[in-house]
Amino acid sequence: MTRPWITACGLVATLAAGVRFSPPSSRAPRTASDSTTVVFLGTGTPRPDPTTMGPATAIVVGSRTFLFDAGVGVTRRFTAARIPLPSIAGVFFTHLHSDHTLGYPDLIFTTWTMGRHAPFPVYGPHGLAAMTDAIYSAWREDIGIRSKGLEHLPATGYRVTVHEIAPGVAFDSGGVRITAIPVLHGSWKEAYGYRIDTPDRSIVISGDTRPASSIEQAARGVDILIHEVHPASVETAAEGGGRQDWARYLREFHTNDVALGKLAAAAHPKTLVLYHFGAHGTADDEVIATIRAQGFSGRIVVAKDLDRL
Ligand SMILES: [Zn+2]
Ligand SMILES: [Zn+2]
Repeated sequence: MTRPWITACGLVATLAAGVRFSPPSSRAPRTASDSTTVVFLGTGTPRPDPTTMGPATAIVVGSRTFLFDAGVGVTRRFTAARIPLPSIAGVFFTHLHSDHTLGYPDLIFTTWTMGRHAPFPVYGPHGLAAMTDAIYSAWREDIGIRSKGLEHLPATGYRVTVHEIAPGVAFDSGGVRITAIPVLHGSWKEAYGYRIDTPDRSIVISGDTRPASSIEQAARGVDILIHEVHPASVETAAEGGGRQDWARYLREFHTNDVALGKLAAAAHPKTLVLYHFGAHGTADDEVIATIRAQGFSGRIVVAKDLDRL
C-alpha cells in the first residue's frame, strides 16, 4: 500500500537583523510520537569515499522526516536507515554546491518510481527553482517513457513544490519550526544554516560556512550543533606547499577546528557534532583536542553515516 505523501505549506518570512528563536507557535501537545531523532544519512564531502555518502541529515519528528541537503546516495541511505521515503515532509537545501545537491534528482525520480504521486515541499536559496526545472528537463525522455509507457506512472507525480527562501522562518507547522540562518560560504551569494525547534529538541545545522556569528547566535544553548570542520593544519600545509589559493579557499568557504572551538565555547551547545569533515578518520583526535583547547567542554561527536542521535 502506498502511504499518502505528506505535503506541508511552508511559510517564508523575512526577518530584520536579529532573528529570535522561540518555541514553535503551533506547538502541539507533546506526545511520545513527537520525539526527535537525528539520522546522519551522509556526512561526507565531494571526495568519493565509498563508506561516506554526500551531505544529507534527516531529522525525524514522529512520523515526519525533514531532510537537510541531498548528497550522493541519499535514497539508498533512507533505506539503510529504515526511514520510509513517503515520510519526507520537507527538503531544505543549505546551498546549491554539487556535493549537497547531487542526490536531488535521485530524491525527485526515485520517489516517483517508488510510487509518489504528489509533490513534497523543497526549500533553499534562489536558483533552486531553475535547478529543479533543469532536472525535469534533463530527464524529460525518462519522464515520458515512464508516464506514457507500460509503467503508467502518474504524469506529474515527479514534481516537487519549490520555495526559494529568505533568512527567517521557512517552516512552522505541527510543532516544528525551521529557521533559515544566513551563513558565509565564500563567493556564494546565498547560503544557509538552519535551526530546527521541535517539541523536544533544538538543533542547528551549519551547512557550509566560514565561522559565522549568525550560527553562533542561533546555536546558543541548543541541544545539538551540527557543524562542518577541517583541521587548521591543512591550511598551514597548503600554504607551506605553495597552494595559496587552496588555503584561501578553505579560509573563505569553510571553518577550521580553532575557529569552531571558539564558536562552540561561546555558543555552548550541549552536543557538538562534526560533519562534512574531510579528514575524518585520520584527524579526529587532532580536531577534538584543538576544539577542547579553545574552551568547549560539552560533548563532541564525530558523525559517521547512519549514526543516530
Ligand atoms: Zn560541501
Ligand atoms: Zn559548499
